[in-house]
Amino acid sequence: MKITTGTSELRDITKMERIGVHSHIRGLGLDERLEPRESSQGLVGQAKARKAAGMILKMVQEGRIAGRAMLFAGPPSTGKTAIAMGMAQSLGHDVPFTMIAASEVFSLSMSKTEALTQAFRRSIGVRIKEESEIIEGEVVEIQIDRSLTGATKTGKLTIKTTDMETIYDLGTKMIDALTKEKVLAGDVIVIDKTSGKISKLGRSFARSRDYDAMGADTKFVQCPEGEIQKRKDVVHTVSLHEIDVINSRTQGFLALFAGDTGEIKPELRNQIDTKVADWREEGKAEIVPGVLFIDEVHMLDIECFSFLNRALEGDLAPLVIMASNRGMARIRGTKFRSPHGLPVDLLDRVLIVSTKPYEENEIQQIIKIRCQEEDVQLTQEAVDVLTSMAKQTTLRYALNLISCAQIVAKKRKSEQVDVADLRRAYTYFMDEKRSVQWLKEQQGSLIFDELEGHGEDAMDTS
Ligand code: ATP
Repeated sequence: MKITTGTSELRDITKMERIGVHSHIRGLGLDERLEPRESSQGLVGQAKARKAAGMILKMVQEGRIAGRAMLFAGPPSTGKTAIAMGMAQSLGHDVPFTMIAASEVFSLSMSKTEALTQAFRRSIGVRIKEESEIIEGEVVEIQIDRSLTGATKTGKLTIKTTDMETIYDLGTKMIDALTKEKVLAGDVIVIDKTSGKISKLGRSFARSRDYDAMGADTKFVQCPEGEIQKRKDVVHTVSLHEIDVINSRTQGFLALFAGDTGEIKPELRNQIDTKVADWREEGKAEIVPGVLFIDEVHMLDIECFSFLNRALEGDLAPLVIMASNRGMARIRGTKFRSPHGLPVDLLDRVLIVSTKPYEENEIQQIIKIRCQEEDVQLTQEAVDVLTSMAKQTTLRYALNLISCAQIVAKKRKSEQVDVADLRRAYTYFMDEKRSVQWLKEQQGSLIFDELEGHGEDAMDTS
């Protein structure tokens, strides 16, 4: 899609969306034995964490893991989110993956627990099997239990009715017909609309005028070629949350498009859960536990953590993946410090995977991948300089400089980004360390300053 900007430039929106910060990641880059390839599917290094992620993923795919939690813990820019994105890419197309930042839970429009409940239910898929709609004269396939007919061949049915009422139990009727009435391939059977009684009309009937004269009032079935018929199912997956919203009288399904679904009543959720349980028993639906990724999880507070502890024990819980870059930190809403800012009882039930800072060659590879993704050409010297900048600052800062330096290069009408362009961009945009240094130089001339001697613990972030 093209749009016109203020400067009358034309931009390709799809391309802009494609190059998000993690858009170069296409999977976990593991081989069949779940061993991480050095650089594959956009991911580089961080071998242990990728392997651990792959193992968890395998368990999710096999349906062996639900209601579990794992935590990626490591310094900033060490690929915690990137690996989670890799996991998301590797999940099956209908396995839900929900990503939230912990701070999103704090909103005025709904309670924290409601926000978390919605995130949980977004991450549980319900794979619903629906029998396809049949139209008059259409050839459909119906599955018939082999043990009842003893037959092995396959064949098709022609349905001559527009009345859908009894079409759904046509399969059962066919079994009746095949067992009681000894219907053979090519026979025609008629199912009486009111009584459901089946009568056999013989093969010649199919060619007679009466066949055409039979109207929509009669359920009319022909077995032209064989004896085993297979009915096609339409399968689609929706999340539990979508079912909630669609059934919520106050919201209605349009809320799904607006994104503002508000709070949903617990009674409604109970009803939905019972309904889904019925569908499962009837073989009409199955549960697909997905993945909920909570970034910056230390931003949750003690109430949310207690909710998580309980929710993970529920029948319908997804795999919860959390990420934190905090070391010992205060648990929000308490005066206590704990590893990664998570209460120990929650920590106790999570599988912790750590990510470590990158080696120089890994940083270089990531930079090259990003340049490719952003369609930016860097000279080899520029790549080297950017790599050492990443080591001195952070990987994320260095990656952010790529497109800034490209703009500088374009100004001097060069297609290639050189060291001088990077240096320029480096002077325009400060990294965190230089920003702190600059603040010190301002000697308190900015509006707020740190609380004397209290540091992080003084903040009331609850
Ligand atoms: P934070 O704690 O600050 O949230 P993080 O550990 O989640 O950091 P990411 O956001 O995953 O870090 O990484 C920063 C950038 O580097 C992203 O653009 C990410 O895609 C990229 N990146 C990180 N690790 C890798 C990797 N192993 N391979 C390829 N790209 C990576």
